[in-house]
Amino acid sequence: IIAVASGKGGVGKSTVACNLAISLKRSGLKVGLLDADFYGPSVPILLGRRHEMAQGDENGRIYPLDAHGLRFISFGLFIKESDPVIWRGPMLANVLRQFLFDVNWGELDVLVLDLPPGTGDVQLSLSQFVDLDGVVIVSTPQELALLDVTKGVQMFRQVKVPIVGVVENMSSFVCDSCDKEHFIFGPSRAEELAQRLETNLLGRIPLESSLRESGDEGHPYMENESHKGRPAWNSYLEIANKLGSIVR
Ligand code: ADP
Repeated sequence: IIAVASGKGGVGKSTVACNLAISLKRSGLKVGLLDADFYGPSVPILLGRRHEMAQGDENGRIYPLDAHGLRFISFGLFIKESDPVIWRGPMLANVLRQFLFDVNWGELDVLVLDLPPGTGDVQLSLSQFVDLDGVVIVSTPQELALLDVTKGVQMFRQVKVPIVGVVENMSSFVCDSCDKEHFIFGPSRAEELAQRLETNLLGRIPLESSLRESGDEGHPYMENESHKGRPAWNSYLEIANKLGSIVR
């Protein structure tokens, strides 16, 4: 069980969770994706299953949906997309428990969890419900994100959840016409951050407009072979390889 976490929102955590799940699947693993970002469930959109509802049976078992060879569940499959989630922490903890234990996951090699940003009830409940194999922390090179990341890492360590490593997302942009690498959010701080946090640097994912487009269209980037060989594609494979060797 691998959780994908971030110190703050908008750093690409859900995009990373989805594409990592697909990359792990590409390496032959059976992968489930649990969207625990209850206040902003974006996995149904990212996997192209927007507006669908989850089904259950009379025994309270919930069926996950299949998309791109992944089994997934999301709070977005139980509410209308425009409905705000105004639930308190203990209620969300119950949903998390149901998503973990009442969903017919079948046989899985890896369950990837997309956590809400920050250090809240969901993270704490999760650490009480299951023994996580590790947390992947997603950050951008911006200083503010880095400060938030440190808090997140400290929280997980306090509740004895191992940190597998850091992914630096949006780390740079390679210009199509001049081939120059631009560090839009500042120079990469990934190695320094990983060292300071005493963890691994799993990889750096560059900005690519097709990553955003793929997410908006519900066709995950790592599912589209035409991206093969591009910098972000290679980064995802490298990160999945490192993770795969941890979970095998
Ligand atoms: P979070 O889950 O941290 O809130 P999202 O995964 O929703 O963040 O990503 C925020 C936005 O950034 C989305 O529009 C997504 O498509 C885009 N995005 C994420 N990573 C990249 C990237 N490496 N290159 C380009 N766009 C990206």
